[in-house]
Amino acid sequence: MIETNSNSMTYDVEKIRSDFPVLNQQVHGKPLVYLDNAATSQKPQAVIDSLVNYYANDNANIHRGVHTLSERATLAYENARKTVQVFLNASSEKEIVFTRGATEAINLVANGVAEYISAGDEILITAMEHHSNIVPWQMLCEKTGAILKVAPINEDGELLLEEFEALISKKTKFAALSHMSNALGTINPIKSLINLLHLSGVPVLIDGAQAIPHIPVDVQALGCEFYVFSGHKLYAPTGIGALYGQLDQLEKMVPYQGGGDMISMVTFDKTVYSKVPYKFEAGTPNIAGTIGLGAAIDYISQVGIDAIAAHENSLLEHAVEQSKNIKKLRIIGTAKNKGAILSFVLDGIHPHDIGTMMDHQGIAVRAGHHCAMPVMDFFGVPATARASFAMYNTHEEVDALMAGIENLIEMFG
Ligand SMILES: *Cc1c(COP(=O)(O)O)cnc(C)c1O
Repeated sequence: MIETNSNSMTYDVEKIRSDFPVLNQQVHGKPLVYLDNAATSQKPQAVIDSLVNYYANDNANIHRGVHTLSERATLAYENARKTVQVFLNASSEKEIVFTRGATEAINLVANGVAEYISAGDEILITAMEHHSNIVPWQMLCEKTGAILKVAPINEDGELLLEEFEALISKKTKFAALSHMSNALGTINPIKSLINLLHLSGVPVLIDGAQAIPHIPVDVQALGCEFYVFSGHKLYAPTGIGALYGQLDQLEKMVPYQGGGDMISMVTFDKTVYSKVPYKFEAGTPNIAGTIGLGAAIDYISQVGIDAIAAHENSLLEHAVEQSKNIKKLRIIGTAKNKGAILSFVLDGIHPHDIGTMMDHQGIAVRAGHHCAMPVMDFFGVPATARASFAMYNTHEEVDALMAGIENLIEMFG
């Protein structure tokens, strides 16, 4: 095992790998090399155990029963809220709303702010957004007559800052920006972007689905009104995510869905909603998933998000360095500040074939448009292959990826 990063003394990647049972298997007779972490990450045993323990010992509905199991389940659920609050450095637990994921959180906000958007108002996004941070705003525009403005990017996949600034006007009523692009890896200078928007009084939502497993996030330091992420990209189960919203913002938003657990009183004449955050959590939530999310954050915090980031950066550096030896390989997304994502195309080989042929070598990469068709259009490619790295990936796996690509080029002649 060649560990070249400066954290090799403290960062024990083999120990981390041993915490992820799924990694220990062969695919098509080759050791699994899992490099599709930007689509979803694997789960450590601690997260799996938290689900098993919950269902084996504590399963009950929350916030209702007075019985012991319900009290235990409620406590575990609310503890997870506290864990997310601390992880994001939100000022209050009330600012954390559990959702199905980043997508639902963005839809919740787009629905909630519709109250103060009128015809002719503008919503600002960027050209590198995931479909989840495009479509809900298009739907909002359709509903209200507002106009969607898209800040452009350059050939490296970086946001053009002057153009971004020029798009902010009195008409701008809301902005939604990705912290880190899932298709390109670009990390946006969101603190400066938020400051710019705030100079014009524009509230902003940050799509942190991709950033959250790789970058320490402090929502108070950022000052954004909203920050959203999905658990499943953060080593937590699928079907759980969170919305951070500043308390006054959440309070002035209408609920997204109606039902049980989001009301304090219902008659057929009038319903009084619960307080924030419960007014946004209608129905029985994903209790097990929420507890699993808490367990995932505890696990990450033990390893240390800074150490994880340093390890992943060294994997990316190694991959970029190695890929220079492959003439037919073109990296899509070469921002100066980028996370551990290597999107690429190979001359004369369709990305789909790359995905399939890599799988035959035990290597899981993503091939497709990565839910970012406008990004693909901008770069003039139908799709890319994407290797995305996580805390448990190794430099040897990067080498396996590169060897796999070389094999493939050879096969295609
Ligand atoms: C994955 C992703 C989303 C959507 O997350 P879901 O888990 O599918 O809700 C949104 N934005 C970015 C940048 C993503 O990577």
